[in-house]
Amino acid sequence: MVAVIFTEICNGCAWCLDVCPHQIIILNHDKRAEIVNGERCIECGACALQCPRDAILAHPLGCGCVSSVVRKKVRKLLHLPEKSKQCC
Ligand code: SF4
Ligand code: SF4
Repeated sequence: MVAVIFTEICNGCAWCLDVCPHQIIILNHDKRAEIVNGERCIECGACALQCPRDAILAHPLGCGCVSSVVRKKVRKLLHLPEKSKQCC
């Protein structure tokens, strides 16, 4: 499986680009997130947890706890408020 981005919901904030461990998310010509080299997606779920619009489906096999650690670290580095949605 590869993470799925619903481009009609995406606002182009690019937050998901920062957390992908394989750097396979880009902003396309329409300023919407898009996955390239999808075979490299490990479905870690970090992008989905980071997305403020819930525009990404990426962790059907787990709750994403490990990814939530990544998200918290990135938000701290960028001085962003913690997202209210919790993993578990
Ligand atoms: S699920 Fe993980 S590896 Fe796949 S696109 Fe999202 S952040 Fe990258
Ligand atoms: S984090 Fe969500 S809204 Fe922001 S660019 Fe990625 S998919 Fe789009």
